[in-house]
Amino acid sequence: METDRANLRLIRTGDPVDPAAAASTHSAFDISPARLDAVRLLSLDAYGRVLDWMSWQDATCLYARGAVAWTLGEPCLVVHGGTNRLSGERSVQPLHPIIAARGHARAHALAPTPALTNAALFARDQHLCLYCGRDCSRQQLTRDHVKPLSQGGRDIWENVVTACFHCNSRKGGRTPQQASMPLLAVPYRPSWVEHLILSNRNILADQMAFLKNHLPRRSPRFSA
Ligand SMILES: [Zn+2]
Repeated sequence: METDRANLRLIRTGDPVDPAAAASTHSAFDISPARLDAVRLLSLDAYGRVLDWMSWQDATCLYARGAVAWTLGEPCLVVHGGTNRLSGERSVQPLHPIIAARGHARAHALAPTPALTNAALFARDQHLCLYCGRDCSRQQLTRDHVKPLSQGGRDIWENVVTACFHCNSRKGGRTPQQASMPLLAVPYRPSWVEHLILSNRNILADQMAFLKNHLPRRSPRFSA
């Protein structure tokens, strides 16, 4: 399907939607291409199992291929396609915030371990230094190995915390006990659903409600 970015509109979640008219109603508002690209649709398999975020382009392909099994939530984006030469009408495809594709996911696609990146780590720890508790800018944050690599510590979720540059330098190659620098929280491996929440700053209300219902019962960060 051909898409026309200039004519894409983001409409507020929860507003009553007439997809064909959404782009011209006052409930729609323009968003910049950069913000548009930040919008993610939540992809599920046909059984409702959470897979991943997908771009509006990938979502549009699913609709165009007839591969959408069902959706949840009111449309949050409307994609305007090409104009039909015979009828002169433009195709309009509303995209829903949560989209289940036909078929079931392979086992390995379900609940993978989130990759341990600095961005994901800092998001897990809410950009706080877990030693001094300060809220730091991205540039001041580092990945600290609770049990240092030099002492046989591993580079895994359960052994890394966010630390400010100052605290990391002060701790050096010591454990928190050796350095007398107690941790403010115990490091943990986020579930896949937590990871999806932490890795997206533009989660729509319907998506957040759905994801919160799929969190593990005892999530350290979120209450279901
Ligand atoms: Zn600190």
